[in-house]
Amino acid sequence: MSYSVTPIGIVRSCFKEKFAIPRQPQLAPAARGVLELHPPFDQAHALEGLEQVSHVWLLFMFHQALEAEPRLRVRPPRLGGNRMVGVFATRATHRPNGIGQSVVRLERIEPGRLHLSGIDLLDGTPVLDIKPYVPYADSVAEARNDLAAAAPEPIAVHWTETSLEQVRREAIRLEEPLQALIEQCLAQDPRPAYQTPAPDRRYGTRLWDVDVRWHYPDPASITVVEVSRAER
Ligand code: SAM
Repeated sequence: MSYSVTPIGIVRSCFKEKFAIPRQPQLAPAARGVLELHPPFDQAHALEGLEQVSHVWLLFMFHQALEAEPRLRVRPPRLGGNRMVGVFATRATHRPNGIGQSVVRLERIEPGRLHLSGIDLLDGTPVLDIKPYVPYADSVAEARNDLAAAAPEPIAVHWTETSLEQVRREAIRLEEPLQALIEQCLAQDPRPAYQTPAPDRRYGTRLWDVDVRWHYPDPASITVVEVSRAER
């Protein structure tokens, strides 16, 4: 038996590439986006009452990680990328039905559009459903997860004089907390855990319409070397 689902909307996100997106929501509060609802869910009726809710669950498709063959075991980056565990013990993107879920902050509601923050979603992510976060039911005081006991330790993020000037300029142009966004995302250390970065190796990703480049002067810290407007 199979079922088909239809997205109710699409996320316009600050994250234009998968690399350096935090591995869970809430880790980068400055990560913002807008969920644009498709008809008929763009009508005001569908959103009535949502103004009383601070956070929502989004159920979405990992549309850039869909695979024909299901994986039974995966190597979560969180475990160093070389240990295999059952897919259902992880929040890996490669899943039987490609469905992800994230709790995100609902900042503001406009007709047909939800402004969100703390997202971990790629630009263009199709959203299947929205549900209100229910604190008394969704927060389980005695819950434990020994595979992911706490948020990863952040690493230090530094700037050069030039990159700091650049990020401040681009933040003003974008009217976004771009410096905080970069610091929050890079502090999660996006590189795969098994990779020891050479100091001269450059890494990069695109946030909004800017390209961000950084390197690891030593394995425990990042220096942002360039923030430049992407070529259109
Ligand atoms: N919070 C969700 C969950 O638990 O289902 C996602 C967790 S998953 C480990 C987070 C990663 O998914 C991000 O780091 C990003 O690289 C990736 N991602 C986000 N949106 C995606 C999409 N639409 N398609 C494929 N990968 C995506």
